[in-house]
Amino acid sequence: MRRKLKIAIMGGTFDPVHYGHLVAGEAARKEFNLDKVVYVPSGRPPHKQEKNITESHHRYLMTVLATTTNRYFDVSRMEIDREGHSYAVDTVAQFNEKYKGRAELYFITGGDAILEILTWKRVEDLLRQCTFIAATRPGFNLEGLQDKLSQKLPQQLCQKIIPFQVPALAISSTDIRTRIRKGDPIKYLLPENVENYIYKHRIYL
Ligand code: NAP
Repeated sequence: MRRKLKIAIMGGTFDPVHYGHLVAGEAARKEFNLDKVVYVPSGRPPHKQEKNITESHHRYLMTVLATTTNRYFDVSRMEIDREGHSYAVDTVAQFNEKYKGRAELYFITGGDAILEILTWKRVEDLLRQCTFIAATRPGFNLEGLQDKLSQKLPQQLCQKIIPFQVPALAISSTDIRTRIRKGDPIKYLLPENVENYIYKHRIYL
C-alpha cells in the first residue's frame, strides 16, 4: 500500500511574505518529511480589520513570486477566493476534500498565532484533522501554551501542537512594513522580486 502524502498548509497573512516564512517552510519540510508545503495567504482573517491588511491579490502575488524557485512549495488562493471570514477549520476541510483521505495534513503557522488557538472556530475538530507546527522566533516560549491547552483539551489533542524553532523568524512582516514607511532598507529580508514588486506598486508607503 502506498504511504499517505504529507501535505503542510502554511497559513499566514503574508503582508508581506519574507525569508522567515520561506526558511520556516523549508526547514519544516525537511524535519517532518513533507511532500509539499502549500502557502495559503489568508483572505479575511476573523481577528483582523480588513482595512489594515493589504489587498489580497498583492499578498497572493508576492507569495507566488517568493516561492517559485522551490519545487516543494505551492500557493493556494483557497482562502482568498472563499466567501466570508477565513477559518483554519474550513481550509483544512477543503484540503481533506481535495486529497480524499490520501494525505496526512499539517498546519504550519506562527507560534504567536497558535497561542490564541483556543479562540479559533471548532478547535477540537481542527486538531483532530491535522497536526500543528508552531514556528517560533528564537527565545519565544510556548510552555505556557501547553498548560493553557491541557486545561481545556484532551491530552491527545494537546500533543498535536509541535513547537518548532526557526532562527530566521527574527525577520517580521511588521518590521518590514515599518522600515518601508521610514525609508529604511529591506534588502536581504525578503526575495528581491518581492522587494521590487512592493516598490513598483507603492505598497506600505
Ligand atoms: P498574525 O496574528 O498576523 O501573526 C502572528 C505571529 O505569527 C506574527 O509574529 C507573524 O509573523 C507570525 N506568523 C504568521 N504566519 C506565519 C507563518 N506562516 N510562519 C511563521 N510565522 C508566522 O497571524 P495571521 O497571519 O493572521 O494568522 C496565522 C494563521 O492562523 C493564518 O492561516 C490564519 O488564517 C490562522 N488563524 C485562524 C483563525 C481561526 O481559524 N479562527 C484565527 C486566527 C488565525 P509575520 O507577521 O512576520 O508573519
